[in-house]
Amino acid sequence: MTAPAGLRPEAPGMWRVLAVRYASRTGLRGQHFLGHDESSHEPHPTAYFVWVAVSADEVVLVDAGIAADRAAGIPGMTGLGSPVALLARVGIAPADVGWTVLTHLHYDHTGTVAELPATRYVVQQSEWDYWHGPWARRITRERWLCSDDDLAHLGGARGAGRLQLVDGDAEVLPGLSVHLVGGHTAGMQVVRLRTAAGSVVLASDASHFYENLETDRPAPILHCTTGVHGAFDRVRELADGPELIVPGHDPAVLDRYPELAGLPGSGIVSIA
Ligand SMILES: [Zn+2]
Repeated sequence: MTAPAGLRPEAPGMWRVLAVRYASRTGLRGQHFLGHDESSHEPHPTAYFVWVAVSADEVVLVDAGIAADRAAGIPGMTGLGSPVALLARVGIAPADVGWTVLTHLHYDHTGTVAELPATRYVVQQSEWDYWHGPWARRITRERWLCSDDDLAHLGGARGAGRLQLVDGDAEVLPGLSVHLVGGHTAGMQVVRLRTAAGSVVLASDASHFYENLETDRPAPILHCTTGVHGAFDRVRELADGPELIVPGHDPAVLDRYPELAGLPGSGIVSIA
């Protein structure tokens, strides 16, 4: 799969990394920080991202967002388009995406899996087992956090040999590795990429916002509280600096990194 020329790093094993915002919503602080306090009822702007990593010869999508039709039905959500369709703005067609790393299997990270015809998925074994095991069925909240349609599609991909289950840490491609951190979900993983700026970590929902990590305060949707704190530590270890840790839902990502040349106001920024 060839990446668009403008994005392609020349050196082998090096990556360019983009964040692509596909939706936004104003939530409440109480939805994003564990433990009630006097600010819990205050509005809290929330962004929804997928991430794109490009090497000399590969295009990797990290998470698959929410399909446009489902986003349209979520109260308060403003969808900016299908995440996969937004990739066209940087010259990437769905068939160009050779790999898709799913950091976890919540619905807002798997929604366009059926729109990627040529991709191979990477999921942690423990994440897969959890959502196919007995517990997720018994917990009401879990049933709305996971899409049965997306799981069924991924099951088909697995049967066709297009889904790789990983147990722990693994280098998927030179300079791109996945790391099991848990906490938020049973098998939450983060992605580390070798870039010209150093090792970038796409934390996704291991830290929804910068503030979760900076104040050591988990988000309330979680599998294991101590696991979330452990994930905060691991993410810091893996990145070459705090500025290279990218949270999953923080609109501040769009302020902290430059927009791509020629795409002002697109919600697409260059992490490295
Ligand atoms: Zn999420």
